[in-house]
Amino acid sequence: MSQKTPQETLYEKDGRYMWHHMKPYQKDQNPMVIESAQDAWITDIEGNSYLDGMSGLWCVNVGYGREEMVAAATEQLRKMPFHPLSNSHVPGIQLAEKLNDWLKGDYRIFFSNSGSEANETAFKIARQYHHQNGEPGRYKFISRYRAYHGNTLGTLAATGQAQRKYRYEPLAPGFIHVHAPDEYRLPSGQSFEEWSLQCAQMMEDTIKWERPETVAGVIMEPIITGGGVLIPHPSYVKEVEKICKKYGLLLINDEVICGFGRTGENFGYQNYGIEPDIVTMAKGITSGYLPLAATAVKQKLYEPFKRKEESDHFRHVNTFGGNPAACKLAIKNLEIMEDEKLVERSKTLGKKIREGIQPLEGHPNVGNIRQKGLLFGIELVADKDTKEPISNNEIGKIIAQCKSRGLIIGKNADTVAGHSNTMTMAPPLSITDEDAAMIVRTVKEAFHV
Ligand code: PMP
Repeated sequence: MSQKTPQETLYEKDGRYMWHHMKPYQKDQNPMVIESAQDAWITDIEGNSYLDGMSGLWCVNVGYGREEMVAAATEQLRKMPFHPLSNSHVPGIQLAEKLNDWLKGDYRIFFSNSGSEANETAFKIARQYHHQNGEPGRYKFISRYRAYHGNTLGTLAATGQAQRKYRYEPLAPGFIHVHAPDEYRLPSGQSFEEWSLQCAQMMEDTIKWERPETVAGVIMEPIITGGGVLIPHPSYVKEVEKICKKYGLLLINDEVICGFGRTGENFGYQNYGIEPDIVTMAKGITSGYLPLAATAVKQKLYEPFKRKEESDHFRHVNTFGGNPAACKLAIKNLEIMEDEKLVERSKTLGKKIREGIQPLEGHPNVGNIRQKGLLFGIELVADKDTKEPISNNEIGKIIAQCKSRGLIIGKNADTVAGHSNTMTMAPPLSITDEDAAMIVRTVKEAFHV
């Protein structure tokens, strides 16, 4: 009887015991089992190495193998591994201050563990703020189709992707969706700016139809990421901020992916000169090394929570939110980004890669290339005239071509609405020039360009 290899044993046990995230059954049976990682590269148990063009899940911004981060967390684990933030702790205070520097504003920070929790926290703070600010009827949120905001019944309700939602309904009530402008799919005869302003107008109309005094806020990613990397026209973002101010709504910016240098600025909203009331963040805050998330809230919103009545505080707790070791590690992560000027690097290297892959636009299936910093979407179509999205099968082949050449890339989630089929790339901000050249070369080879 032939002995099983260690790898075969692991595959068998994986197939027996593991339930992977986001995978159809067939693919669930053949996972890549990743064993080690260094810089921008991951290695599986077969010894195959790949450039991680998705930074794990859009999060390993400083790359793998940062010993200083491991040391910072380890030291904190020895010193004081846990305390709930109903008290306070030193790494939490230090990180909250540092996040304010990155935000370039005056925010109070509520820590949690994941992007979903950060958004749930934002919704609850917004509702309670209005409640205690004399407008208890404001409970609805406006969000956009195609955006993803999390996996809980509230954040999934905010999410604008039907295929992720329909089996879990009913979700939390009170979430209303509007169109997000898409530079590639414009109503005929309209410029991108005209369509963007029309979308903003439709958002305003929706708020009016719903009655503004029932609406608590708008949640938006500055750039819709998982829904196809939709880069907005700057005037749209400004207009949304204006509408929020006009009707007394809070503007919640979901920076779970766009934050921490991904788009070439500290936070995505800083590309557009707006000042959100609430900023939610996760992923890049620790570069994915440990779970941590934060909801940053403008100081003025804290005022109603300061009232004397015992019941006026925010009745929300996360046992693990703001774990001291995660906070300590996050501080080191941000220091590395500062020391190595990774935010600036995201901007310059992003442009360079964009220039490198620009010739792809000549390919009959490449409809549109979108890029901001080190965030890329390459939208594929079956036909450039009709813009019919390419099939899942075809985009799968391109992704497999990249993988066979040692490059991991992703794709957006939404095919149900027939909108798009977009390849996504979000490599670590720390990638070398050689890594960047490899990405360009590989993607071009995958398309035979
Ligand atoms: N918001 C956005 C924009 C995201 O991309 C994600 C996760 N991909 C989330 C929220 C939810 O984050 P988490 O998976 O950490 O709960």
